[in-house]
Amino acid sequence: MNKKLPLLFAIVAMIVFLPTDVFAYNLFGYKLTNGVGNWGKNRQYYYVHDSAKTYYKPLIKGAWDTWIHSSHIVSTPISFRETTNKKSAVVELASFSNNDSKHQYVAITSFFRYQKEVEPWESNWGWAKIDLNRFYMKNHLKADQQGTIAHEIGHAMGLAHNGDSFSIMCPLAGGRKTARPLRDDYEGINVLY
Ligand SMILES: [Zn+2]
Repeated sequence: MNKKLPLLFAIVAMIVFLPTDVFAYNLFGYKLTNGVGNWGKNRQYYYVHDSAKTYYKPLIKGAWDTWIHSSHIVSTPISFRETTNKKSAVVELASFSNNDSKHQYVAITSFFRYQKEVEPWESNWGWAKIDLNRFYMKNHLKADQQGTIAHEIGHAMGLAHNGDSFSIMCPLAGGRKTARPLRDDYEGINVLY
């Protein structure tokens, strides 16, 4: 056997397994049934309940903008606009304030098929609802509050947590160091839609 063959195999193996494009995103497995819009062609809508509008209107707008206007980093199909017609919305945002034992979180996203709540790793969802807990939101800087809203929007579109501190899908408690989606977050969306 040619003595150079093992070396050749080693080089080929290095090229094949070189981590050139390892994206730090995790997907639930399912997604929004009707998608996230298609930039320039059609759009989806989000609805802001008064309970969220009163406290977080500019932060909600800012968080959506970081998802929608991403082309300087990575282009995605995401195209969302606010609506006052709740029925046409596929993402709703609301807020409450509670620190009892059942509400020990800063925000939560729930997933629905029609009116039935579903798990995002079991089926697609027609719409999602984001609930922001003011009791814990207020302990964070405005930038991190906006980041938390962007994080929940990521969940609503189908992204799960990951441990990369430069991903918006890293939990704040897990050491998130960005208040906006970054490259890998957008790549996750592009795999889903
Ligand atoms: Zn989360």
